[in-house]
Amino acid sequence: MTTPVPATTGHRRVLLAAPRGYCAGVDRAVLTVEKALELYGPPVYVRKQIVHNAYVVRVLEAKGAVFVEETGEVPEGAVVVFSAHGVAPEVHDEAAARGLTAIDATCPLVTKVHKEARRFADEGYDILLIGHAGHEEVIGTMGEAPGRVHLVDGPEAVRDVRVRDEHKVVWLSQTTLSVDETMETVERLAARFPALISPPSDDICYATQNRQLAVTRIAPDAQLVLVVGSSNSSNSLRLVEVALHAGAGAAHLIDGPEEIDEGWLRGVTTVGVTSGASVPDALVDGVLARLAEHGFGDVEIVRSVTERQRFALPRGLDGP
Ligand code: SF4
Repeated sequence: MTTPVPATTGHRRVLLAAPRGYCAGVDRAVLTVEKALELYGPPVYVRKQIVHNAYVVRVLEAKGAVFVEETGEVPEGAVVVFSAHGVAPEVHDEAAARGLTAIDATCPLVTKVHKEARRFADEGYDILLIGHAGHEEVIGTMGEAPGRVHLVDGPEAVRDVRVRDEHKVVWLSQTTLSVDETMETVERLAARFPALISPPSDDICYATQNRQLAVTRIAPDAQLVLVVGSSNSSNSLRLVEVALHAGAGAAHLIDGPEEIDEGWLRGVTTVGVTSGASVPDALVDGVLARLAEHGFGDVEIVRSVTERQRFALPRGLDGP
């Protein structure tokens, strides 16, 4: 049961969604790079952006992390960290062949989806993976069972799906999708494949779901919602869509305070603020400070859920 947000009294205010920002998987991934730098000394190579946030990448670069696109760019024998989004098994094989010390910062909730993909493939299923083409997480999950995983990029893609046996199909999903759109895709898949089975538990992770729930609490009362996050962050992009769907007058994705367009604030009395799962609090604080300069100094936290999830660091970095 949720408590309604009080109606605006006409003064300028901010409704700050909670939970927002760092999830347990991102926290673990960033700490993994920091610990690896402490343990091995710079440079520590990181394959892909450790998390999809430009600010986080810049801060880690300043500490000695070197970001590369592919394992082949890492000098032989060096230390490499795999990002929170996960990698296909062939990437582990390539790192081993090059003699790299590989540290896997894949979020445990992504690893769970990888394991599901392997298990269902071993049992002879075709796997319909709901997700976005080209996203690193999707590439990694598809690599767990090549030829068995079929990407379904949204409800419209359902009609093009081809499987080997319509009686052995299961759906899985990327962890950072819109809950509502995913359910629409699942309904269409089930209509096409009546024998379709569901994963044993939600693939869309707790953090994605909680941040979407939180933004639906503030959006109906906000003429403007600002989502702090980078443009390659899937869960941040989904928050913009969810905010608009929930009734926000407008919603924009911004990387930080410098991207606030003053024109957006014209005639606005209530601004909703939230942030994606890869966004540190410092960026949100900067956005709140900028809004305060425009008279939005009154900040009300609207909490929908309290999160307690934590993940241990990868083996070898988790202390003696
Ligand atoms: Fe893990 Fe979810 Fe965070 Fe991705 S958004 S790192 S799946 S907890």
